[in-house]
Amino acid sequence: MMSKVKQRVLIIEDEPDLVRGLTDALGFEGYEVASALTGDDGIRAARAQKPDCIILDLMLPDRNGFSVCGELRRMYPRVSILILSARSQESDIIRGLEAGADDYVTKPFGVGELIARIRSLFRAIRRQAVSSPRGPILVGRAAVDLAAQMVVIGRKQEALTFFEAECLRILHGRAGSVVSREELLQEVWGAEGGPSSRTVDNVIVKLRRKLQDDAKKPKHILTVYGTGYKLVL
Ligand code: CA
Repeated sequence: MMSKVKQRVLIIEDEPDLVRGLTDALGFEGYEVASALTGDDGIRAARAQKPDCIILDLMLPDRNGFSVCGELRRMYPRVSILILSARSQESDIIRGLEAGADDYVTKPFGVGELIARIRSLFRAIRRQAVSSPRGPILVGRAAVDLAAQMVVIGRKQEALTFFEAECLRILHGRAGSVVSREELLQEVWGAEGGPSSRTVDNVIVKLRRKLQDDAKKPKHILTVYGTGYKLVL
Protein backbone atom coordinates (compact mmCIF):
# COMPACT_ATOMS: atom_id res chain seq x y z
CA MET A 1 0.00 0.00 0.00
CA MET A 2 1.50 3.30 -1.08
CA SER A 3 1.53 6.08 1.46
CA LYS A 4 -0.53 9.13 0.59
CA VAL A 5 2.38 11.42 1.31
CA LYS A 6 4.16 12.12 -1.95
CA GLN A 7 7.79 11.15 -2.16
CA ARG A 8 9.98 14.18 -2.68
CA VAL A 9 12.69 14.38 -5.29
CA LEU A 10 15.21 17.22 -5.46
CA ILE A 11 17.02 17.84 -8.76
CA ILE A 12 20.38 19.66 -8.55
CA GLU A 13 21.30 20.39 -12.14
CA ASP A 14 22.28 23.51 -14.08
CA GLU A 15 20.81 22.68 -17.51
CA PRO A 16 17.37 24.34 -17.45
CA ASP A 17 15.92 22.19 -20.26
CA LEU A 18 16.92 19.01 -18.51
CA VAL A 19 15.51 20.28 -15.20
CA ARG A 20 12.22 21.12 -16.90
CA GLY A 21 11.99 17.76 -18.64
CA LEU A 22 12.77 15.82 -15.47
CA THR A 23 10.42 17.92 -13.35
CA ASP A 24 7.56 17.18 -15.75
CA ALA A 25 8.34 13.49 -16.06
CA LEU A 26 8.75 12.95 -12.30
CA GLY A 27 5.68 15.05 -11.52
CA PHE A 28 3.71 12.90 -13.95
CA GLU A 29 4.90 9.82 -12.02
CA GLY A 30 3.45 11.29 -8.82
CA TYR A 31 6.58 12.65 -7.16
CA GLU A 32 6.80 16.07 -5.57
CA VAL A 33 9.70 17.75 -7.34
CA ALA A 34 11.95 20.69 -6.43
CA SER A 35 15.07 21.84 -8.23
CA ALA A 36 18.19 23.93 -7.76
CA LEU A 37 20.64 25.17 -10.41
CA THR A 38 23.81 25.29 -8.28
CA GLY A 39 25.44 23.14 -5.62
CA ASP A 40 24.99 25.65 -2.80
CA ASP A 41 21.35 26.23 -3.71
CA GLY A 42 20.93 22.47 -3.82
CA ILE A 43 22.21 22.09 -0.27
CA ARG A 44 19.91 24.88 0.91
CA ALA A 45 16.98 23.26 -0.91
CA ALA A 46 17.80 19.89 0.69
CA ARG A 47 17.66 21.52 4.14
CA ALA A 48 14.33 23.15 3.37
CA GLN A 49 12.68 20.32 1.46
CA LYS A 50 14.01 17.18 3.21
CA PRO A 51 13.85 15.16 0.01
CA ASP A 52 13.64 11.36 -0.11
CA CYS A 53 15.78 11.25 -3.24
CA ILE A 54 18.29 13.67 -4.76
CA ILE A 55 19.29 13.67 -8.42
CA LEU A 56 22.68 15.34 -8.55
CA ASP A 57 24.65 16.59 -11.56
CA LEU A 58 28.43 16.48 -11.18
CA MET A 59 29.36 19.53 -13.28
CA LEU A 60 27.75 22.43 -11.47
CA PRO A 61 28.67 26.08 -12.02
CA ASP A 62 29.78 26.77 -8.44
CA ARG A 63 30.97 23.48 -7.01
CA ASN A 64 32.26 20.05 -7.76
CA GLY A 65 29.36 17.58 -7.54
CA PHE A 66 31.46 15.02 -5.64
CA SER A 67 31.89 17.45 -2.75
CA VAL A 68 28.18 18.33 -2.85
CA CYS A 69 27.43 14.61 -2.73
CA GLY A 70 29.71 14.08 0.26
CA GLU A 71 28.15 17.00 2.12
CA LEU A 72 24.59 15.83 1.41
CA ARG A 73 25.50 12.31 2.53
CA ARG A 74 26.95 13.57 5.82
CA MET A 75 23.86 15.71 6.44
CA TYR A 76 21.37 13.01 5.47
CA PRO A 77 22.63 9.44 5.87
CA ARG A 78 19.27 8.07 4.74
CA VAL A 79 18.50 10.05 1.59
CA SER A 80 18.90 8.29 -1.78
CA ILE A 81 21.40 10.10 -3.99
CA LEU A 82 21.54 9.40 -7.70
CA ILE A 83 24.36 11.04 -9.63
CA LEU A 84 23.64 12.15 -13.16
CA SER A 85 26.69 12.90 -15.21
CA ALA A 86 28.30 13.10 -18.61
CA ARG A 87 31.41 11.62 -17.00
CA SER A 88 31.15 7.94 -17.76
CA GLN A 89 34.61 6.69 -16.81
CA GLU A 90 34.62 3.94 -14.25
CA SER A 91 36.89 6.00 -12.00
CA ASP A 92 34.26 8.76 -11.88
CA ILE A 93 31.51 6.28 -11.11
CA ILE A 94 33.55 4.74 -8.30
CA ARG A 95 34.39 8.18 -6.95
CA GLY A 96 30.70 9.10 -6.95
CA LEU A 97 29.74 5.93 -5.11
CA GLU A 98 32.57 6.49 -2.63
CA ALA A 99 31.27 10.02 -2.02
CA GLY A 100 28.04 8.41 -0.88
CA ALA A 101 25.88 8.16 -4.00
CA ASP A 102 23.55 5.17 -4.22
CA ASP A 103 23.42 5.02 -7.98
CA TYR A 104 25.03 6.65 -11.01
CA VAL A 105 23.40 7.34 -14.38
CA THR A 106 25.49 8.58 -17.30
CA LYS A 107 24.33 11.18 -19.81
CA PRO A 108 22.84 10.88 -22.33
CA PHE A 109 20.15 8.75 -20.70
CA GLY A 110 16.51 7.93 -21.32
CA VAL A 111 14.02 9.50 -18.92
CA GLY A 112 12.34 6.09 -18.69
CA GLU A 113 15.60 4.55 -17.49
CA LEU A 114 16.12 7.27 -14.91
CA ILE A 115 12.60 6.87 -13.54
CA ALA A 116 13.10 3.08 -13.35
CA ARG A 117 16.25 3.64 -11.28
CA ILE A 118 14.45 6.02 -8.93
CA ARG A 119 11.57 3.59 -8.52
CA SER A 120 14.05 0.88 -7.71
CA LEU A 121 15.62 3.06 -4.98
CA PHE A 122 12.20 3.75 -3.46
CA ARG A 123 11.15 0.11 -3.70
CA ALA A 124 14.22 -0.92 -1.74
CA ILE A 125 13.34 1.58 0.97
CA ARG A 126 9.76 0.28 1.23
CA ARG A 127 10.98 -3.31 1.50
CA GLN A 128 13.28 -2.35 4.33
CA ALA A 129 10.47 -0.70 6.26
CA VAL A 130 8.65 -4.01 6.65
CA SER A 131 11.57 -6.32 7.30
CA SER A 132 14.12 -4.80 9.67
CA PRO A 133 15.08 -6.95 12.66
CA ARG A 134 14.39 -5.43 16.06
CA GLY A 135 17.30 -4.42 18.21
CA PRO A 136 20.98 -4.36 17.34
CA ILE A 137 22.85 -7.18 15.66
CA LEU A 138 26.46 -8.00 16.54
CA VAL A 139 29.17 -8.31 13.91
CA GLY A 140 32.49 -8.86 15.65
CA ARG A 141 32.96 -5.90 17.98
CA ALA A 142 30.38 -3.82 16.16
CA ALA A 143 26.80 -3.43 17.36
CA VAL A 144 24.63 -2.50 14.40
CA ASP A 145 21.15 -1.05 14.59
CA LEU A 146 19.88 -1.69 11.07
CA ALA A 147 16.64 0.24 11.46
CA ALA A 148 18.48 3.30 12.77
CA GLN A 149 21.36 2.73 10.31
CA MET A 150 23.97 3.12 13.06
CA VAL A 151 27.13 1.20 13.94
CA VAL A 152 28.60 1.45 17.43
CA ILE A 153 32.09 0.18 18.20
CA GLY A 154 33.27 1.07 21.69
CA ARG A 155 32.59 4.78 22.01
CA LYS A 156 32.58 5.40 18.30
CA GLN A 157 29.31 5.82 16.41
CA GLU A 158 28.97 5.91 12.68
CA ALA A 159 25.99 6.17 10.35
CA LEU A 160 25.36 3.62 7.62
CA THR A 161 23.82 4.62 4.34
CA PHE A 162 20.54 2.97 3.47
CA PHE A 163 22.21 0.61 0.99
CA GLU A 164 24.99 -0.37 3.39
CA ALA A 165 22.39 -1.24 6.03
CA GLU A 166 20.32 -3.18 3.49
CA CYS A 167 23.24 -5.26 2.20
CA LEU A 168 24.18 -6.09 5.77
CA ARG A 169 20.59 -7.01 6.61
CA ILE A 170 20.45 -9.49 3.71
CA LEU A 171 23.87 -10.98 4.58
CA HIS A 172 22.87 -11.21 8.24
CA GLY A 173 19.60 -12.95 7.42
CA ARG A 174 21.65 -15.65 5.71
CA ALA A 175 24.77 -15.54 7.90
CA GLY A 176 27.16 -18.39 7.18
CA SER A 177 25.85 -18.85 3.62
CA VAL A 178 27.13 -17.34 0.40
CA VAL A 179 24.99 -14.57 -1.06
CA SER A 180 25.78 -13.80 -4.68
CA ARG A 181 26.22 -10.27 -6.03
CA GLU A 182 23.21 -10.87 -8.27
CA GLU A 183 21.06 -11.81 -5.27
CA LEU A 184 22.17 -8.70 -3.41
CA LEU A 185 21.41 -6.55 -6.46
CA GLN A 186 18.01 -8.15 -6.84
CA GLU A 187 17.03 -7.99 -3.19
CA VAL A 188 18.49 -4.60 -2.29
CA TRP A 189 18.20 -2.56 -5.47
CA GLY A 190 15.42 -4.48 -7.22
CA ALA A 191 15.69 -6.12 -10.61
CA GLU A 192 14.48 -3.33 -12.84
CA GLY A 193 17.18 -0.97 -14.10
CA GLY A 194 19.42 -1.49 -11.09
CA PRO A 195 23.10 -0.63 -10.95
CA SER A 196 25.99 -3.02 -11.72
CA SER A 197 27.65 -5.54 -9.42
CA ARG A 198 30.48 -3.01 -9.03
CA THR A 199 28.08 -1.03 -6.85
CA VAL A 200 27.69 -4.02 -4.53
CA ASP A 201 31.47 -4.33 -4.22
CA ASN A 202 31.73 -0.66 -3.30
CA VAL A 203 29.08 -0.94 -0.63
CA ILE A 204 30.93 -3.97 0.83
CA VAL A 205 34.20 -2.01 0.92
CA LYS A 206 32.51 0.74 2.92
CA LEU A 207 30.73 -1.72 5.20
CA ARG A 208 33.99 -3.46 6.06
CA ARG A 209 35.59 -0.15 6.92
CA LYS A 210 32.70 0.88 9.17
CA LEU A 211 32.61 -2.52 10.89
CA GLN A 212 36.42 -2.35 11.27
CA ASP A 213 36.74 -5.57 9.33
CA ASP A 214 40.25 -5.78 7.81
CA ALA A 215 39.84 -5.21 4.06
CA LYS A 216 42.87 -7.40 3.24
CA LYS A 217 41.95 -10.26 5.57
CA PRO A 218 38.29 -9.80 6.44
CA LYS A 219 37.02 -11.89 9.33
CA HIS A 220 33.35 -11.05 9.01
CA ILE A 221 32.35 -10.09 5.47
CA LEU A 222 34.21 -12.69 3.45
CA THR A 223 34.62 -12.53 -0.32
CA VAL A 224 33.71 -15.76 -2.07
CA TYR A 225 35.61 -15.40 -5.33
CA GLY A 226 33.55 -15.41 -8.46
CA THR A 227 30.31 -15.55 -6.50
CA GLY A 228 29.63 -13.03 -3.78
CA TYR A 229 29.90 -12.56 -0.06
CA LYS A 230 29.39 -14.45 3.17
CA LEU A 231 28.84 -12.96 6.62
CA VAL A 232 30.53 -14.69 9.53
CA LEU A 233 29.43 -13.31 12.89
CA1 CA B 1 26.01 20.45 -15.55
